[in-house]
Parts: sequence; C-alpha cells; structure tokens
Amino acid sequence: MRDLARMTRAELAEFIRDGGGADYAELMREADRLRHLSYDNEVYTRGLIEFTNFCKNDCLYCGIRRSNPYAERYRLTQRQILECCSLGWELGYRTFVLQGGEDPYFTDERIERIVYSIRSTHPDCAVTLSIGERSRESYQRFYNAGAQRYLLRHETANDEHYHKLHPAAMSPENRKRCLWDLRDIGYQVGAGFMVGSPFQTPEYLADDLLFLQELQPHMVGIGPFIPQKDTPFGTFPSGTVEQTLLLLAMLRMLLPTALLPATTAVGTLDPLGREKALKAGANVVMPNLSPTDVRKKYLLYDNKICTGDEAAECRFCIQGRVERAGFRLTVSRGDHKEWRMQHDAIGS
Ligand code: SAM
Repeated sequence: MRDLARMTRAELAEFIRDGGGADYAELMREADRLRHLSYDNEVYTRGLIEFTNFCKNDCLYCGIRRSNPYAERYRLTQRQILECCSLGWELGYRTFVLQGGEDPYFTDERIERIVYSIRSTHPDCAVTLSIGERSRESYQRFYNAGAQRYLLRHETANDEHYHKLHPAAMSPENRKRCLWDLRDIGYQVGAGFMVGSPFQTPEYLADDLLFLQELQPHMVGIGPFIPQKDTPFGTFPSGTVEQTLLLLAMLRMLLPTALLPATTAVGTLDPLGREKALKAGANVVMPNLSPTDVRKKYLLYDNKICTGDEAAECRFCIQGRVERAGFRLTVSRGDHKEWRMQHDAIGS
C-alpha cells in the first residue's frame, strides 16, 4: 500500500479520483488496524445540543443560513441547555457539544456563563463548543471558562472553492486563523469538510488532506454534502457514502490518533452509513440531546434523521448500532490521547 503521507497533491487527487483503485481493500484494512491500535474497539460518544439556529452567516449550502426565510428560528435558554446536560449525564454522556449558528445573542459573556455552569454542575464532563468564527480573545475567554474542545470545520482548504461556497463577506483566511488560534490556546481542535459539496474536485479534496496534515487537528468531522431545498444549492446532488468512507479511511491513515465522528449526514444517506463509517476508521458518535420540539428546526439539510426521537431513544439506538458493528460504546470524556497526556503533565 502506498504511503499517503508522502503523496503530492496530484497523487492524492488521482488516488481519490480512482476511489483508492487497487489499494482500496488494503486501505480499509489498514484504517481498521490503526484505529484498533489507538482506540481498541472503543467508540466515544458525545451528547449534541443544537442550542440555536439563528445565524448571521449566509453559507450557500446551509439550511439555517441567514437568508432562508423558511427556517423557523429558535434558541434554547441557559436553563434548557443545563436540563439537556443533566438528562445527558443520566444517560451516560460525559461530553456535551454545544453547536449553533453564529448567533449574536450569545455574547462572550453568555457563552462563558453557560460553559462555566455546565463545568460546575458536571465537573467530570467535557464541553465542546461549535459556534463558528470568533476573535482569539473570545476563544481564550471560553477556554478559561472551562471549554476544552472546539469544532470548526474549515469547509474547504482551497480558497477558490471556499469563495464558491460562501458569500464575499466570509474568508478562508479568517476560518484558518481561527483554527490556528484555537490550537495555540490549547483546545482539542476539530476541523473538517463536506464530501461532495458543489464544485468540489479531487484536487480540492487533496488540498483538504494536505491542510489537515499541516494543522494536525485532534478531530476531523467529515460527512456528505446533502442539499437543503431552500438554499441556493438546493438542486445540487448529494455527496456519496462511498467517497465519504474512502476519505475517512485516508484520514485514519494520515492522522492515526484523530477522533473521527461517524456523522448524522452519512446516516441520513444510508441507514447503515454510521456503521460503515466506524468500519472505515471512525471512532466517535454524536447522538442528539436537543429537546425533541426543536430538532426539526435545526435543518442544515433535507431528510435529516433522528429529528423525532427522544434523547434516550437516540442513546440506546446508537449503542445498539455500535455494538452490532462490533464495537463498544464507552462512557468517558473521550479525550484525544496525546492531548490528555500533555494536559495531565501540566496539571490542567
Ligand atoms: N456555526 C458553526 C460553524 O460554522 O462551525 C456550527 C454550525 S454549522 C451549521 C455545522 C456544519 O454543518 C458546518 O460546518 C457544515 O459543514 C455542515 N453543514 C451545513 N450545511 C450542510 C449540508 N447542506 N450538508 C451537509 N453538511 C452541512
């Protein structure tokens, strides 16, 4: 099997264009072996709380973009977020992911208060934020309040492609600046991208892989692009499960200890998509903990699964899926191993 880490942009692009070609079966075996080496058969779980769908951005692919008049807007109160966490704790979650649109209502002070109160109520739990682009100062404040992880997909590492997916007001430089700042502050950082987004080429995907090798994030979230009918990309085709699995396995080879989620989007395109993703090298699942009455409103793309389920149903459904795929769902914070060792060493 060829060494992906030594491939040039052109070679990576060709490998992707060929779907792994003659190396496909070995790639999948190697990805599985490397995941087992770092994580045995453990799958980490995080409770996802989608706490606001207000967004000041206008990403052309996203169902909660500012100019979608059909998105029914909501935001959870601090009390509701804490109730989700308490329910999550009872269900065995030890990590809460707070995700939302870029909602100016959630000022630095409000986010700090929320993070601080979750960490005080559940000191054995980790808090992950996924609330978009902010200043370095804001990221530092959230970190000081107790957030230790941050998910911010870079979306695409290619500047030309970035501008085709986003309005002129958004810049790839700022997105990348955020990721470097987050790393520098000491967060466990998650980057990532959609597979099969409009105008994507194998060369652009090669750029993503090269950027990720440079950034060395602790987590990488990838999932297929799925159109949302009320967006400018509403009639574009979805990405494919096959290409998502190929890229997951390539990522496992390039970043052997990374935390790689089996995303809801891959489960939306294929009822067994998350199980397939685990077998291709993923090792994290993120069941939904948001109150059932708001789930349908966090509609990034059409036909999203699990929007009618209760938190407990999602928890036990995912456990069954993980176990049937031959893995074990772990009740722990599920830190990135090297990050944990560094932080234990400095006593934080
Ligand atoms: N506002 C935060 C941010 O910018 O990181 C977090 C929320 S954002 C909606 C979360 C992710 O959803 C994005 O990074 C994007 O990759 C993904 N997403 C948005 N629209 C999508 C679509 N149509 N298909 C698949 N994924 C989508």
